[in-house]
Amino acid sequence: MRFEVIILGSNGAVPTPERHASAHLLRSETTDVLIDCGEGTQLQLQAAGTGLGRTDTILITHLHGDHYFGLPGLITSLSLQGRTTPLRIVSPPGLRAKLSPLLELDRWRLPFPLTFEEHTATELSLLTGSGELEIFTFPLRHRIPTNGYLIRERPREPNIRKDKIVQYGIPWTAIPDIKGGGDYQTVTGELVPHTELVAPAAPPRAYAYCSDTVYFAELADYVRGVDLLYHEATFLEDMADEAAQKGHSTAKQAARVALHAGAKQLVLGHFSARYRSVEAHEREAREVFANSWAARDLYHFTVPYAGRAEVAGK
Ligand SMILES: [Zn+2]
Ligand SMILES: [Zn+2]
Repeated sequence: MRFEVIILGSNGAVPTPERHASAHLLRSETTDVLIDCGEGTQLQLQAAGTGLGRTDTILITHLHGDHYFGLPGLITSLSLQGRTTPLRIVSPPGLRAKLSPLLELDRWRLPFPLTFEEHTATELSLLTGSGELEIFTFPLRHRIPTNGYLIRERPREPNIRKDKIVQYGIPWTAIPDIKGGGDYQTVTGELVPHTELVAPAAPPRAYAYCSDTVYFAELADYVRGVDLLYHEATFLEDMADEAAQKGHSTAKQAARVALHAGAKQLVLGHFSARYRSVEAHEREAREVFANSWAARDLYHFTVPYAGRAEVAGK
C-alpha cells in the first residue's frame, strides 16, 4: 500500500530554478493530499507526472505568499481542464477573502464546487478525513497564525489468520463479525476467543508537516512517533538568532524536534535562497538525528510499513 511524499518545492520565500516554493504531495493508495501551494506548484505537479485527480483536499499552513501564491493558477487550470469533482482548501482564516477578488469567486461559478474551511489550530486536533487518511492540525509559532498538519492512515481492521480459518472451519459469513471484535463458536460449541483468530494490522503510517515555525520544545509532542517528519530549516545554526527573529528554524533545531519526537525520518526544507547547496543542512541535522535528509525538488520519500522511508531521486 502506497504512502509517499513527493517534494514539489523545497525552497523558502524566494524560489530558484532548482528549488521552488513550498509544496508537498502526500500519496496514499487511493488518495492524494496537497500541502501548501507555492508559486509554480501546478508546473511541479506536471513535472512529477501527477495531477490532482485523486485530491479533494488542499492544506495551506499560513497566508505568506510562498505557501499559497500557486493557488490562483492551479484553480484556473483545474477549471479549464473541466474538473467537476469537489475541492476544499483548509487554511488559517482569511484565504478566501484574499483569493476571491482575483478569481472573481463571487461573480463566476467554477465548474467544480470549491469550499474553504478556515481554522486556527490551538492544539493537536482531528480536523477532517480524506479517503483512507485522517488529517490532524496543530499550532506552529510563526509571525502570523500558522497550522501544522499531521496526516495518518485510518486504523485498519485486524487480519484474520488463514490457519485458524482452516483449523476451525470458519465460514466466510462469520469473518466480518470476527474482524469487528467477535469470538467464534464452532459447530461443537467450543468458543474460540477473538485474539486467537486475528493478527494485528500494521500500525497506521503518519507524516507531519511543520512549516514555517521557530523552534519550540512542545512541537515534539504534536508529532510524536511519526514515520516521516517534515520540518523547515530555513537557516543553519550559525544564524539561529536571525532564524528566531524571522520566525524560522535551523537544521539543528529541526533535528532536535525529530529526536525528541521519536520520529523515524526527518526531511528538511524551506531553505533560504542564500544557500546554493543544502548539503550543509543535511550534515548539521545528522549530527543530532542521523536519519535526516534535505528535500530536493521532485524527490520521493516512500514510507514502508513499520520501517524507514526510502529516498528516491526524480
Ligand atoms: Zn515560508
Ligand atoms: Zn511564513
